[in-house]
Amino acid sequence: MLVKLQPGCSNQQIAAVCEKINGQGLRAHIETGVTRAIVTVIGKVNGGFQVLREQLESMVGVEGVEQISKPYKLAARKDASQKTIVPIGHDLKMGGDQLIIVAGPCSIESEHQLRTIAVSVHRSGAHVLRGGAFKPRTNPREFEGLKEDGLKMLRDIGGELGMPTQTEVMEPYDVEMVSEYADILQVGARNAQNFPLLKAVGQTRKPVVLKRGAAATYEEALGAAEYVLDGGNPNVILCERGIRTFNTITRNTADIAAIPVFQHESHLPIMFDPSHGVGRRHLIPNVALAGVAAGADSLHLETHHKPEEALSDGPQSLRLDQFAVLMAQVRLMNEARRQCNALKMNLS
Ligand code: PEP
Ligand code: MN
Repeated sequence: MLVKLQPGCSNQQIAAVCEKINGQGLRAHIETGVTRAIVTVIGKVNGGFQVLREQLESMVGVEGVEQISKPYKLAARKDASQKTIVPIGHDLKMGGDQLIIVAGPCSIESEHQLRTIAVSVHRSGAHVLRGGAFKPRTNPREFEGLKEDGLKMLRDIGGELGMPTQTEVMEPYDVEMVSEYADILQVGARNAQNFPLLKAVGQTRKPVVLKRGAAATYEEALGAAEYVLDGGNPNVILCERGIRTFNTITRNTADIAAIPVFQHESHLPIMFDPSHGVGRRHLIPNVALAGVAAGADSLHLETHHKPEEALSDGPQSLRLDQFAVLMAQVRLMNEARRQCNALKMNLS
């Protein structure tokens, strides 16, 4: 069940609605949107759904009460205008008007490597520096990352350039430590249904990028988001990074349709990762532009100054000159998208 408050209603009115819900042994969850607040009722309304509905509907400031049939109640979009904006670092916002570019190497390999890549992508227009320090690898004898030493490099170089940072966390017991170094926690595709990890990042208030599992349905991806939101962390970003299909030329199949699907189903910002989505450098620019056209709030791009020497994901890492050209193209595509959206708004 969800309670839509009238636009401009007071904090006391919202509090009264929550009190009524909590008083029934249920849990009230407030989402303060751009135009109105929405209170979601968590828990089973035993028998008295109609009674509670009528009581809530008669309260001052309440516009209406509706049922939510979706299992991902907190992640679900309840209103056409509902959109969550996740603050990143000091002055960035994901889910707002600005397209946020996240770029950097798959793995942090050395200070020299990270600085060379970071300086270049920053100059080309990237906002957030990514780099893996804990790497999930298919084979146990592959490079597993520099761990805490890598996190220190990420923090220091991000700090020098004024770029917020994003890095993967793989274990619940590392969440606190990784949170001290990075601005955004990434939960990888392989951990998309690691429920203890989802609960652990839900206990922080850090922005969390949730990669879609390689075989996850849309509902499962939204279910993962629900775990983090349920822990009390509202700063969730959904990331489409490709799914496993019968295709073999590409590493995965970049699911562009996931972007409008997630937008329709959820109020959470959407990041698109064409690097893991197709896994082949020459294909990434066009697929990235398609993601911008489809409405992604953010792009995630792996980059390397010497991809042929990269310790992980070299074949999908853009060279720095390629990244610079792609950024110029992204700006043009983003402007086209802005104009398309304006046209749509005029029609509706
Ligand atoms: C990564 O971002 O380097 C990564 C391992 O991503 P994914 O979990 O999407 O494979
Ligand atoms: Mn990678």
